Amino acid sequence: MYAVMKVIEFCYGHRLLNYQGKCRFLHGHNGKVEIELSSRTLDRRGMVRDFDEIKRVVQAWIDRELDHKMLLRRDDPVAPLLRERNEPVFLLDDNPTAEAIARLIFEHTASQGFPVTCVRVWETEHSVAAYSPDTTARRRPAVRAAARSTTTAA
Ligand SMILES: [Zn+2]
Repeated sequence: MYAVMKVIEFCYGHRLLNYQGKCRFLHGHNGKVEIELSSRTLDRRGMVRDFDEIKRVVQAWIDRELDHKMLLRRDDPVAPLLRERNEPVFLLDDNPTAEAIARLIFEHTASQGFPVTCVRVWETEHSVAAYSPDTTARRRPAVRAAARSTTTAA
């Protein structure tokens, strides 16, 4: 198995709802994202994927959609106020934790055709969250379908 990893840095603000710690207040991070792509074989260039291609597609999306934005849960009451003031906001269905941001970036990267196997979001120098799909569920599609419909209902 071959793997490549691209590191992308971006700044974001967020706050966590239903949370008692200080992350319930609006604050920001200088985040670092690690995007890991894996493949059993190499392409005709001898690569899993060209680093420049990852940069052009994924980094450009992060720069455009997430960098220097306030990442908020869709129902956060502060979101409409920020939008009214033309402050850049990106809304997520879930609490904008590092875990949720990792999953968001994973899903976007996969949707662009990259063989992504893991995305890690470093929120600080000492705290990192990762998302990779449940490979057990992937081998059993019925289980994954059930899990997905539960997620949709919630
Ligand atoms: Zn935070």
